[in-house]
Amino acid sequence: MQYNRTYNFSAGPATMPEPVLEEIRDEMMNYRGSGMCVMEMSHRSPVYQQIIDEAEQDLRDLMHIPDNYRVLFIQGGATLQFAMIPMNLMKNGVACYVETGAWSKKAISEAKKYGEVHVVASSKDRNFCYIPDCSDLDIPENADYVYICENETIHGVTWPKLPNTKGHVLVSDQSSMFLSRPCNVSDYGLIYAGVQKNVGPAGMVVVIIREDLIREDLDPRTPVYMSYKTHADNGSMYNTPNCWAIYCCGKVFKYLKSIGGLEEMEKGNIAKAKVMYDFLDSSKMFTGTVDKEFRSLMNIPFVTGNKELDAKVVAATKAAGYDNLKGHKSVGGLRASVYNAMPKEGVEALVEFLKKFEEENG
Ligand SMILES: *Cc1c(COP(=O)(O)O)cnc(C)c1O
Repeated sequence: MQYNRTYNFSAGPATMPEPVLEEIRDEMMNYRGSGMCVMEMSHRSPVYQQIIDEAEQDLRDLMHIPDNYRVLFIQGGATLQFAMIPMNLMKNGVACYVETGAWSKKAISEAKKYGEVHVVASSKDRNFCYIPDCSDLDIPENADYVYICENETIHGVTWPKLPNTKGHVLVSDQSSMFLSRPCNVSDYGLIYAGVQKNVGPAGMVVVIIREDLIREDLDPRTPVYMSYKTHADNGSMYNTPNCWAIYCCGKVFKYLKSIGGLEEMEKGNIAKAKVMYDFLDSSKMFTGTVDKEFRSLMNIPFVTGNKELDAKVVAATKAAGYDNLKGHKSVGGLRASVYNAMPKEGVEALVEFLKKFEEENG
């Protein structure tokens, strides 16, 4: 390895594509003849305007975002959206949430501050190792939206099929699966993703929102920053945006386009996850914690069933150059996050290591 980099299986902030990091390095001291680094640039300068415009256009190209959707770059990470969504979309003050793990739980408790929240389905009974049946949910007529977390980063579950919202607006947290596969944007009213999982540096969220959901008649106490209209009317530059994150994300969007777009990402991600899941299914020491049909392509939790042995594996992997494999405390064991930028060779090397560990310690 040229830079002596570790294979980083972190759930986020997470590994970035090396060609993107190299490009950023090359532009660090003098961005394309501007005489300065992007970090030092006025966000009102023409050179920066081009960076943000291209980032938006490349994302639109990648996801085939229809013209009646706006793309917004907002700070506060994905977490701020837990509040912004009810503040902006609760017109009747009623919303439905599906509880599938740690991140949807957080969104639910925040939404409850703003209105009536119906948890219309939950997989809590088995510690969130599956997605509940959402083909016939009990959705009140006046519900403003139905909310899902499409990939639960901590529990490692993903939706094989979107819920039947019975004509209500669908809102999705795609933070840990954004751009990992093709997405039919018009199935949703709002998609959002904190970028530090699959795209870029932490501290920013991409919001893709259908134009008609952007309202003016919010509670007058709503902070100006927390209104989608503020961001939509000002091209995501009402105040100083996260210029650096937008620049880095833009590079990743361009890179993904250059390597074949989301269809290619999906193929690669399926092949990569298969290496890991095939191993887990054949191992006597390790087991995946999620029911097969709901397994995430991005976050793969697994356990030995013995806490001390789990800790021993984590320590051994770290010593061998595979970092951040410790599972979240609510699931325990280990978790391999294998986002877009994790090369297949990284997963293959990890599996070889775990096989050897099993042979020596089984
Ligand atoms: C990481 C994550 C969040 C929180 O992101 P922050 O940017 O830290 O606020 C929310 N939802 C999901 C699914 C995540 O993976």
